[in-house]
Amino acid sequence: MSTSAALNQKEQYNLNKLHKRLRRNVGEAIADFSMIEEGDRIMVCLSGGKDSYAMLDILQNLQRSAPVNFELIAVNLDQKQPGFPEHILPEYLKALGVEYKIVEENTYGIVKDKIPEGKTTCSLCSRLRRGILYRTATELGATKIALGHHRDDILQTLFLNMFYGGKLKGMPPKLMSDDGKHIVIRPLAYCREKDIERYAEAKAFPIIPCNLCGSQPNLQRQVIKEMLNDWDRRYPGRIETMFSAMQDVVPSHLCDRELFDFGAIQHGMDVIDGGDLAFDREELPLTPAGYTPEESDDLSINVIEVK
Ligand code: SF4
Repeated sequence: MSTSAALNQKEQYNLNKLHKRLRRNVGEAIADFSMIEEGDRIMVCLSGGKDSYAMLDILQNLQRSAPVNFELIAVNLDQKQPGFPEHILPEYLKALGVEYKIVEENTYGIVKDKIPEGKTTCSLCSRLRRGILYRTATELGATKIALGHHRDDILQTLFLNMFYGGKLKGMPPKLMSDDGKHIVIRPLAYCREKDIERYAEAKAFPIIPCNLCGSQPNLQRQVIKEMLNDWDRRYPGRIETMFSAMQDVVPSHLCDRELFDFGAIQHGMDVIDGGDLAFDREELPLTPAGYTPEESDDLSINVIEVK
């Protein structure tokens, strides 16, 4: 059933706004980090989850109006997990008219074989998956590999690294792959997960469950996610401010001697990064820095599908 006709005017209006916002977020991230250049052939990694569907959808949309020409090729790795519905993605991608490739590799079997029962399988599984995706990118002549991580994934990673890894380190919007051969991009880096969720629901993407391998979710990440969601409910704007903070780092006011040469501070030098004045009086803005409430934050879009 096409339910777009069933949308009332306000719902349709909200949905259009949501689409525009996601499109704007992706466009800005692409421009800010020079993610896409003329002639790029971008391998879009599709897991069957909401994020990667949204990424492909928005990239296709931008492709039509972008000032540069680029190609998209969707790639899904069928890891042979029991119950993986292998028809869903080919049918969806065919209907979309996008070039695609399904790579079949029984990583599930390898992981089950190598990892003793009850031990966590994710680290071997993701290493295998990464290797296969890099190899596929080479075979397909892809110049970039696009992954569907969003702003909330990036913040969760920042806190995971701080809480458990003892590092101030998030997840980069653009990086060189660890085999040194591929450029990996995250076009959803500025997108809020709740926007993607609402968009995926509205577009009725054929989501494939992510627990087919039977592995437990990463409990530490889950706890961080709940903490951030709780902050978001209780202190609107805090998430946005934290993400802004990731884009405005002041190495001279941290304690990493590799990042800033504290030994070089001498009498007679200019004040560095505002000196210590910020701590004389705690003059912090009343509204969280970097936060502009979106009109649709207060609106629920009760839609199932949009054209
Ligand atoms: S949840 Fe399953 S499929 Fe995902 S990385 Fe872990 S073992 Fe692999």
